[in-house]
Amino acid sequence: MSIFRPNYLADDLFDLPLETLKKKGIVHLLFDVDNTIVPYNSQEIPEETVRWFHETSAKGFRLCILSNNSGERVAPVAEKLGIDYVARAKKPLQNGAKRAVALFNAPKETIALIGDQLLTDMACGNIAGFTTIVVKPINPDELWITKWHRNYEKLLYRLMGIRR
Ligand SMILES: [Mg+2]
Repeated sequence: MSIFRPNYLADDLFDLPLETLKKKGIVHLLFDVDNTIVPYNSQEIPEETVRWFHETSAKGFRLCILSNNSGERVAPVAEKLGIDYVARAKKPLQNGAKRAVALFNAPKETIALIGDQLLTDMACGNIAGFTTIVVKPINPDELWITKWHRNYEKLLYRLMGIRR
């Protein structure tokens, strides 16, 4: 079960413990897209989110998207945010995580993965040896498979004694 356990909990991107991460030398941040950066399948990125990405880059973090979604979906988001992306990551499998490590060209200890799902994002990051941070999903209007995952997530949170 520990492969699903996040290292940190945050409400949303704005709530991420950036100072703490930086002190630990974690300066490479990977982001899930759907329901972490934008609502599921939405292309509209709030202005404050775009600003947050620019400010976080300026603070010395290197930022990249790690999404299971297609390049078609992810590239416009990455472009708007001015960051790199890895699409079709197949989280929780390691395909995308390995591509991200190669892209950063940095040790896994310096990388954190931020996402809204335990079964895909947190498992992927934990297996890869990254620091993992779970955020609350932006929008409950999701794919049926995600909704199905959520039932397991509720159970996992309860088993891990984490209140969300
Ligand atoms: Mg997601």
